[in-house]
Amino acid sequence: MKGLIFSVKRYSIHDGPGIRVTFFMKGCPLSCWWCHNPEGISPEPENVVIDEIIGEHKFRKTESAGEYYTVDDILAILGKDRIFLDESKGGVTFSGGEPLHQAEFLVKALKACKAGGYHTAVDTSGYAPAGSLRRIIPFTDLFLFDLKHLDDTLHYKYTGVSNVIILENLQLLLGSGRDIMVRIPVIPGFNDDDSHLRDLRDFLLKNKSENLKKINLLPYHKTGSSKYKRFHIPYRMEGIRQPSRERMNELKTFFSETGITVKIGG
Ligand code: SF4
Repeated sequence: MKGLIFSVKRYSIHDGPGIRVTFFMKGCPLSCWWCHNPEGISPEPENVVIDEIIGEHKFRKTESAGEYYTVDDILAILGKDRIFLDESKGGVTFSGGEPLHQAEFLVKALKACKAGGYHTAVDTSGYAPAGSLRRIIPFTDLFLFDLKHLDDTLHYKYTGVSNVIILENLQLLLGSGRDIMVRIPVIPGFNDDDSHLRDLRDFLLKNKSENLKKINLLPYHKTGSSKYKRFHIPYRMEGIRQPSRERMNELKTFFSETGITVKIGG
């Protein structure tokens, strides 16, 4: 069995503790307006022809997104960085796209990584069948769980899916005892109004538990917007400015009222 992966990031320091290797898996049932990895949404491999003009010369190149990897391929990549991963108390992270979209492969990969002694993390939108989530819990040390909006109508409008399954899955993970970091993308005009921020803070306070280790506030940024053109996907965030450093510090203080550690960024 093989998994479809569109990017492998070595020496990553934003996808869990220590130095990590992050595998970005293809396929996501959501279509968030601000997604930084639109090439991760389609569950199929993609080839994009890009015309570049340098001076008077025009160059045509093909960029591909999505290659098939076996579990052994993954272990071989991790093996190359083993010393860095071990010494930094890092490990491996499966991100995406939505890694649970390839649940069969994810279970096998996580199982093999755990057997190999690696710390494992899964970065998820939470939008997946509870059965798939239950299958990976035994082999996942840390969940990076995205929390985007508590209002179902707005969640649907800006991500294309309801948040009901996501909130249920968060409850499932909170009861699993596995470490969780909740990641809140701070998106101006979508989820950053005072009333919603208060709701989010109260929700986290109500659901605070031993295994909810951290809140990561991820400021919206435009990195990735150029990919939309290349992959012929409409970009719907034109004109939206990224939150200022002052605003992010304000939000950090605000969410710290939960008593949970808050960090700006991953
Ligand atoms: S859940 Fe993540 S990968 Fe999927 S569309 Fe949203 S931002 Fe992109």
